[in-house]
Amino acid sequence: MNAASVLVVIGIHREELAFGREVLEGLDPGEVDVLEIPEGLSGRRPLPDECFRHRALHRALYLQLLPHLDPGHRLLVDLHTGFDDAGPSADLLCAQASLQSRLALALEATSMPGCGEAMTTLRECVRVITLDPRQPVHASTVIPEAVWNNPGFAYLGVEVYLPDDAQGRARGVVLARRVIRLAGCCAQDVLPA
Ligand SMILES: [Zn+2]
Repeated sequence: MNAASVLVVIGIHREELAFGREVLEGLDPGEVDVLEIPEGLSGRRPLPDECFRHRALHRALYLQLLPHLDPGHRLLVDLHTGFDDAGPSADLLCAQASLQSRLALALEATSMPGCGEAMTTLRECVRVITLDPRQPVHASTVIPEAVWNNPGFAYLGVEVYLPDDAQGRARGVVLARRVIRLAGCCAQDVLPA
């Protein structure tokens, strides 16, 4: 049995590490490989005079991930959290068009009963956002291109937005696990081994 084809990194932002641990505890052993950043950066929005340093620190930290990727890894999942009173919800950020469209189809086909009252599919609480700067609409990113546009693997930023109550947070944990599993399957489908 080879190593997992998905490497999940948690704790890039140190305030978000506990959530990452909770999410990964619910996955089967060996289902994904895990890279935990022991001393991540602050995810707090930087003050204007801190922006340059903030960007530089992020770039450096992301570049340090590269040696942790094995040839067997097809997908690097970078797990983050944020807030959404109406959540849980999530954004998936990636640059590969094939993976984006496969993800969109998979979200459409996956129901998520715990994802709010009237929701029927994951598509209603999960958005797919492009990181490719050649596309007209894309997320601006502090992540270096060597990470999000690497021939060896696909990068997927998973940002899970949590409401401010324990129940909602627990649903967010479940949502994160579903999204990670789904993304792993999608990556198998569209990315050459
Ligand atoms: Zn974060």
